Amino acid sequence: MRGAVTAELIEEIVDNGGSNEPMPVLIADDSPVSRKILEASLRKWGFQVVSVGNGAQAWEALQREDAPRLAILDWMMPGLSGPEVCALVRQQRRRYYTYLLLLTSRHEKEDVIAGMEAGADDYLVKPFDSNELKVRLGPGRRIVELQTKLLEAQDQLREQATRDGLTKLWNRHAIFDILLRELARSQREKSPLGIVMGDIDKFKSINDTYGHMAGDSVLREISQRIQASVRAYDAAGRYGGEEFLVVLPRCDAEQTFVTAERIRNSIQGLPVDLGGRLLDVTSSFGVTSLPGGLAATPERLIRVADEALYEAKKQGRNRTHRGILD
Ligand code: GH3
Ligand code: MG
Ligand code: MG
Repeated sequence: MRGAVTAELIEEIVDNGGSNEPMPVLIADDSPVSRKILEASLRKWGFQVVSVGNGAQAWEALQREDAPRLAILDWMMPGLSGPEVCALVRQQRRRYYTYLLLLTSRHEKEDVIAGMEAGADDYLVKPFDSNELKVRLGPGRRIVELQTKLLEAQDQLREQATRDGLTKLWNRHAIFDILLRELARSQREKSPLGIVMGDIDKFKSINDTYGHMAGDSVLREISQRIQASVRAYDAAGRYGGEEFLVVLPRCDAEQTFVTAERIRNSIQGLPVDLGGRLLDVTSSFGVTSLPGGLAATPERLIRVADEALYEAKKQGRNRTHRGILD
């Protein structure tokens, strides 16, 4: 644990690009002595050090889910050499970039071009000056931090473009895309594809009686119950105001019906808690399933499910009606 805020700690935080989280860095060197020296320097500069003694271990560490994204690799190591590790990392095509710095001896400096061609970002000749290593790690750290921010921004944009803001389910555009993709898969794999169209009963009167905010809370709660009632590889979307479309890969007509009933019961079975006031909510469903290997447009499937939903409403609501594909 760190002690009180000292000048040294402040410098460490500033050096670390303003972040309190120490950045993990991998050191791979077969010499225990140079490893110890590197470890001590890197810790002093605010890095969290992962240290290994050969190239094979380095490659293993760099393949992990939470692998360090900054690595200092010795050139000559038993198992895999530094450049060989670089080449493997570059072939890996991960979303996150790994910044690779090679340590070479005078003699290997002749091969520096080969090392950079193998995928290294930079190199340093041993014995190196500690300050030089420190400044050379700067660009690496900046690249890793910049890319992290870029990927976070990308994730946020994708989230905004595909998720419904209120319910966090897929939005209309995204669920339609998923349906298109699953239709293609269903035909290719000759597996059935089920869809469920759902609609909250008398939702307008919930709004009229309790207000729009309460209506929004009901929509959020119902969406969570829908999500909780389906498998991880099913997709639930908000198709319209209080209409939902659920895509069920590999579900035949019976399985699709059973799933819709499970969703319906999860909604009618437990009142929605509106800040202490309990509200009974019901919903109606139209279901259909495309047999494996057959072709259909998404519009046709949706139309059949929609007509079945209309029938469920007509017959008194709070029920699931089966639509037949002609
Ligand atoms: P039915 O049982 O026939 O489905 O009746 P209903 O009242 O649920 O259907 P209707 O289509 O008449 O009304 C749907 C209402 O949903 C009208 C609209 O104001 C409300 N609505 C749509 N989107 C939202 C939303 O995002 N938030 C809230 N609070 N209400 C919404
Ligand atoms: Mg409704
Ligand atoms: Mg409606």
